[in-house]
Amino acid sequence: MSTVSLLGHPPAITVGKILCVGRNYAEHAKEMNANVPTSPVVFLKPATAVVTSGSSVLIPDISDDAHHEVEMTVLIGAGGKGIRPEEALRHVAGYGVGLDMTLRDLQAQAKKSGLPWTLAKGFDTSAPLSAFVPSEGIPDPGRLGIRLSVNGALRQSGWTRDCVFSVADLIAYASRYFTLEPGDILFTGTPEGVSRVQPDDALSAELVDEAGSVLTSVSVTIGRAPRP
Ligand code: MG
Repeated sequence: MSTVSLLGHPPAITVGKILCVGRNYAEHAKEMNANVPTSPVVFLKPATAVVTSGSSVLIPDISDDAHHEVEMTVLIGAGGKGIRPEEALRHVAGYGVGLDMTLRDLQAQAKKSGLPWTLAKGFDTSAPLSAFVPSEGIPDPGRLGIRLSVNGALRQSGWTRDCVFSVADLIAYASRYFTLEPGDILFTGTPEGVSRVQPDDALSAELVDEAGSVLTSVSVTIGRAPRP
């Protein structure tokens, strides 16, 4: 079982389902040559994809083009179905930062063939997650920043105010179709600047407040999965 932590609130929390949203920043949609969606593009990662800080992301042998996507993450604390947007933030236990690691070559093939992205997005180690900051300390998740550096050089930097769909909107939309449960996690999309990672790269992702102070972070190194 995969677990995550909510800072100051032991014990560890078992991860449920991981709902991810694609193309939630217009500039990233543009760099992917995709349209900005009119409703959220939702996909899933299994809970077994989770790793935490200090772990390795292991690229499977079927890919030669793994990309980083830094994203704000949301930990659901109170479940529900058909949650209204104005109630949605009350269902959040905490906010964090994560990496939606993506096998871009496999994803491109799948898109071309009209096949699912599951393998490209949900392989073991594809979801590095920080510890979560309790939502009591974050009244507005639309006023946070996310950053990613690779080997110390800044590669991605964005502000959640630029999201196409807000956290409240995403929870409302997802909960129309998926019953949300405590321990579920939401990846909220990546800003522009996604790029390829190489074995031995060191990735460090941060969630920051408006003043740029780091609230939580996750660091991983890149490796190759052993051939099965
Ligand atoms: Mg993503």
